[in-house]
Amino acid sequence: MDARTGLPVVGMVGAGQLARMTHQAAIALGQSVRLLAASPDDGAALVAPDVVIGEHTSLADLEALAKGCDVVTFDHEHVPGEHIRALVAAGHTVYPPADALLYAQDKVAMRRRMEELGVAGPRWRELPPDPVAAAEALEEFAAEVGWPVVLKAVRGGYDGKGVWLVDRADAAAPVLTSGTAVMVEAAVPIARELAALVARSPFGQGAAWPVAQTVQRDGICVEVIAPAPGLGERTAEDAEALALRIAAELGVVGVLAVELFETTGGEVWVNELAMRPHNSGHWTIEGSRTSQFEQHVRAVLDYPLGATTPTAPVVVMANLLAAGDDVVPAGIDERVHHFMARWPDVKLHLYGKGFRPGRKVGHVTALGDDVDEVLARARAARDYVAFGDPSGDHHE
Ligand code: ADP
Repeated sequence: MDARTGLPVVGMVGAGQLARMTHQAAIALGQSVRLLAASPDDGAALVAPDVVIGEHTSLADLEALAKGCDVVTFDHEHVPGEHIRALVAAGHTVYPPADALLYAQDKVAMRRRMEELGVAGPRWRELPPDPVAAAEALEEFAAEVGWPVVLKAVRGGYDGKGVWLVDRADAAAPVLTSGTAVMVEAAVPIARELAALVARSPFGQGAAWPVAQTVQRDGICVEVIAPAPGLGERTAEDAEALALRIAAELGVVGVLAVELFETTGGEVWVNELAMRPHNSGHWTIEGSRTSQFEQHVRAVLDYPLGATTPTAPVVVMANLLAAGDDVVPAGIDERVHHFMARWPDVKLHLYGKGFRPGRKVGHVTALGDDVDEVLARARAARDYVAFGDPSGDHHE
């Protein structure tokens, strides 16, 4: 507890945009936030007063963060499970627990557990570490399910890094000989991708937001539409119930994002799990009575959860992926001025990151009644801030 306020101190490992937006929510609730940042220039470290500079792989640095915190949580899933267990053994409260977080860290453990729970997903196989044996196992698997197949790093992938679609055995060789532990999945005939976002508290309370549609380009999420347009009521309810069940079965505490594939056959399959506020839930800042960031701090502190009622019939979030300075006609501050004049009803979030090409530097959120109109508005605003070009064409 912070003796100055009588309210909790939330420790967060990682100081990127998720920590920055979580901090913003915690401020409103009177809470103090302490961050473990790799660099003082990290987006959240720029704005938080209490920052420990260190590595999430160092137990000493994690202990320095945890000291005096009521709870420790994460803005990414890369903290080793043994370090989390050591913090708990030393008397700290850490959520989500290591035993749950494993399923967001390790794709083989996740696929195995989903199978045990009877949750639908693509066929998959773990590949042995030896490249020759792995190539044989891969050929055998592909003979069963057909090419192409999807190779995935078992640990450490994000934003499509660590995912390779391969259509023949020799294309897999660079991955199989790289020393990275890999698994293989059948290529899913994807109609579209969805995300079921829920939160769960240690008390066992659960809350679900409407299932959203996520749009990826090169493995990176570029847009989220909530609720997912045209998703049947029954399918939506089933997906929410599935995410709540997964949260309860795995003992998740905090926000859980269940990334889903809607197959061309109309089925809903699990792709992967994230146990923290997630890009698929940024729309909830303006689009829901309770944002995912507020819900995450409520959950990890075991407060009652907030209402997840949407604030508009349609909400679109579009990520700002930075363009190179050479293609952008005006500086970011000037673009922000013009953006504000032209789209007074679109909300802008910038993460305090440098505009390196391809980097996720912020997002915009638009609300309205009609999917096509809201999507066009969000895209135009996004393109203007990212590229200085309001054509809305950069989603292609
Ligand atoms: P990351 O850990 O990088 O988020 P994901 O497992 O979510 O990796 O995969 C990134 C993207 O790759 C997915 O959003 C999807 O578009 C595509 N993808 C992943 N698995 C499959 C699969 N089995 N079949 C077809 N496409 C896939």
